[in-house]
Amino acid sequence: MPELNPGFSEILKKYGAFDMNACYNCGTCTAVCAMSDEENSFPRKMVRYSVLGLDNEIQISLDPWLCYYCGECSSSCPRDAQPGELMMSLRRWQTSKYDWTGLSRKFYTSKAWELAAIGFLAAMVLVLFILFHGPMTTELTAQGGVKLNTFAPWKQIEIGDWIMAGILSFFLISNILRMYLMVFHGEKKIRVPLKLYFTQFWKLIFHFVTQWRFTKSNRKTRLGRLNIKASPYWISHWLLMSGYVLLFTMIVVFLEWFQTDFIHPWWHPQRIFGYYATFGLSFGLIFFVYGRIKRDQENNKHTHFTDWTFLFLLSGTVITGILVHIFRISGLPYATYYVYVIHFMILVPMLMIEVPFSKWAHLAYRPFAVYLSNLQNAAYKK
Ligand code: SF4
Ligand code: SF4
Repeated sequence: MPELNPGFSEILKKYGAFDMNACYNCGTCTAVCAMSDEENSFPRKMVRYSVLGLDNEIQISLDPWLCYYCGECSSSCPRDAQPGELMMSLRRWQTSKYDWTGLSRKFYTSKAWELAAIGFLAAMVLVLFILFHGPMTTELTAQGGVKLNTFAPWKQIEIGDWIMAGILSFFLISNILRMYLMVFHGEKKIRVPLKLYFTQFWKLIFHFVTQWRFTKSNRKTRLGRLNIKASPYWISHWLLMSGYVLLFTMIVVFLEWFQTDFIHPWWHPQRIFGYYATFGLSFGLIFFVYGRIKRDQENNKHTHFTDWTFLFLLSGTVITGILVHIFRISGLPYATYYVYVIHFMILVPMLMIEVPFSKWAHLAYRPFAVYLSNLQNAAYKK
């Protein structure tokens, strides 16, 4: 007999859900959902589970991650029960359940906790720069650029990057492992033949790289008088994600190559990659911030405070990164040094909070859920 949690709908409200008790179980939402199929039928089932307080059933379900929040179900719901927003809230709630530290729950349910953590990490970065920075010099390079590596030697910054990447990878990977254990070795034990883990693995890579399921959704974007199906949202999301992954790789793995005092010509791969990452991040950010301000689509009508924190941190990182580049090649040493420190004071909290515990975690959870769901379905057919 499954256990009922009568307070579950109240808990979910903290994660963004509205009153799903308005639902009268008609099934319209599932009928219109392009992502739903016989094997993974949602969102009606998730609405029912939430109303009944079947939180254990939801915890082991992958359905919330298979929804790409096109909003079609919410606009079709005759009771305005907001099933799309419920799926979003369930993803936040599940993220906090996968996280064994309890920090994710704190960040999702308390503004004070999230702001304090951002402030603490930013202050820590500032202290580290004050203690370990190199000399500030007004002497410029032969090309008239700023000697950034004198103030912040790449080797020192790289060691900091590796420590940070190690910490956030540890939390994220351990949380992904918990997600796997909950789904396959929780109350319902699912036996998956070993071979399937390998034969299905390409789907994990494929969905991480392409985010192809976005193109399946019913999401329409208004461009002038045209309604364009799916692609603007998918392209914006893909540009944002690819820009982020590229920049993260250059900063953590190839910093010696990326942070040079020598100013390469504009067509050099170092600058082309940097410009592409900046373009991808800026394009995605403008698209999402504009949508959230305009609130003209079902999926951006409701914004949880953690969505704004994420967009604020990412925008701050991108803007200060652009400024460092401009000041450095323009030969403005003090502006470069100060903005470089501010850049890291925003970048580090953005990565340390958002990647393992909050919004960025979906970049890993979503493709992993698609992979696990394929394993699950293949195992059931065996
Ligand atoms: S959420 Fe709305 S559309 Fe879905 S089953 Fe309930 S009432 Fe029907
Ligand atoms: S938001 Fe879109 S993808 Fe998600 S459950 Fe609703 S219809 Fe399906």
